[in-house]
Amino acid sequence: MIDHSHDAAASSWVPGADAHPDFPVQNLPLGVFSTSDPGPRIGTAIGDHVLDLAVLASDVSPLLRAALTEPLLNALFALPAGERLALRHAVFALLTSDTARPRVLPFLHRMADCTLHLPFRIGDYTDFYVGIHHATAIGRLFRPDAPLLPNYKHVPIGYHGRASSVRVSGTPVIRPRGQTKAPDAGAPAHGPSQRLDCELELGVWIAGDNALGETVPIDRAWDRIGGFCLLNDWSARDIQAWEYQPLGPFLAKNFLTTVSPWVVTAEALAPFRLAQPPRPAGDPAPLPYLADAGEQAHGALSIDLAITLSTPAMREGGLAPQRLASGNSMDAMYWTPGQIVCHHASGGCDLHAGDLLGTGTLSGPQAGSEGSLIEMTKGGAQPIVLPNGEVRRFLDDGDELALVAHARRDGYRAIGFGPCVGRVVAAP
Ligand code: CA
Repeated sequence: MIDHSHDAAASSWVPGADAHPDFPVQNLPLGVFSTSDPGPRIGTAIGDHVLDLAVLASDVSPLLRAALTEPLLNALFALPAGERLALRHAVFALLTSDTARPRVLPFLHRMADCTLHLPFRIGDYTDFYVGIHHATAIGRLFRPDAPLLPNYKHVPIGYHGRASSVRVSGTPVIRPRGQTKAPDAGAPAHGPSQRLDCELELGVWIAGDNALGETVPIDRAWDRIGGFCLLNDWSARDIQAWEYQPLGPFLAKNFLTTVSPWVVTAEALAPFRLAQPPRPAGDPAPLPYLADAGEQAHGALSIDLAITLSTPAMREGGLAPQRLASGNSMDAMYWTPGQIVCHHASGGCDLHAGDLLGTGTLSGPQAGSEGSLIEMTKGGAQPIVLPNGEVRRFLDDGDELALVAHARRDGYRAIGFGPCVGRVVAAP
């Protein structure tokens, strides 16, 4: 799993790539970009540049060559994982070999000159709820006596989301209108949400396909994980509180989901897969279909996560975005990515390349590591005071919220996920 392409000493000839916080040559995330012409095509991020993978036309298998001519990643991620590993190795060779430089240079674009697109045609989007501290904190707001429901530690909880409104980083967040009913109001009203929130999640991009009725065994689940992105499951808490019973969130979440444009591949993340921490004493063991020694040994993912906020007044005052929270996915995830993939297909549901799974909000156990504003502010009761004196309970129009992720481990080059940003605009 770990090979020469993860060597911390590997160096690229692309200026600035070795010191880049997100995209050194050890990362090589895949995405879809365009320049002024021609149309969208597949590339990889290297430092502050995008490499057009058309450069590989003569270097790779016919299967890869065909997939790389598509304007989306679906065909590439429908291929066996070995093809994407070969692609990674071919790109790594080009970007670390001085002799390849003259041939590669014409295919290298400054990222600032590129438009990044949604990387897949998303057939389906499912949102899980594996962040146990988030589930507990939210549950406590609604049910102080029994925050965590009895099923939580037995079954990975999820619901089917809305694929049509998944957008790439930078898409404006149009404040949704919806029905709300304050607890002391006699009747519901319709209008712009007053409690617009974020949810810090990782997104799992599915690779390969299984037929209807065909399950994904737990010991093969990572074969179906093509890569990861950051995912912001924007949530209108006032709409959610009124509409969610009995079938769960609907308009409170389907107005927009933002993903980062780069697919950080399962291959790139190999050094950051660690053992799943043992469950606390007294917790039930996963049922056999969700239990596997290999998954326990290296099925968890260690990703440093953070949320930053920039308000209009901060930008006018020249202030940098303020970090609101930071944590690590290992502290948050009760279920592993492999377990949610296995569970999703365990009833016979077919998963396809380019399907998107959200992990659920990833909050750590302690203050300062919350993955949503409703947790940071205890439901709005304890507002956040920003360095310039501004106060926030939820998001105001003009606020720009960013999710940040880096994978770090001693002995390896850190890699990042790139931007997952959205700026709130007023309800129309
Ligand atoms: Ca969510």
